[in-house]
Amino acid sequence: MSLEVHCPRCGKKVPWNETQRWRPFCSERCRLIDLGQWANEEHRVAGDDLPPAGDTPH
Ligand SMILES: [Zn+2]
Repeated sequence: MSLEVHCPRCGKKVPWNETQRWRPFCSERCRLIDLGQWANEEHRVAGDDLPPAGDTPH
């Protein structure tokens, strides 16, 4: 049984399984954009050293 969702940002199909770490988004980029962090974090998204989500001051 395979379940697919659509990325809330771009509408791309995303398989719902453990390998899709950004689900329901298709990618880290779409996830960050949707969370509204893109503008603030764009200079550090190039690497894999992003801080844990949820620690961004509002
Ligand atoms: Zn997407």
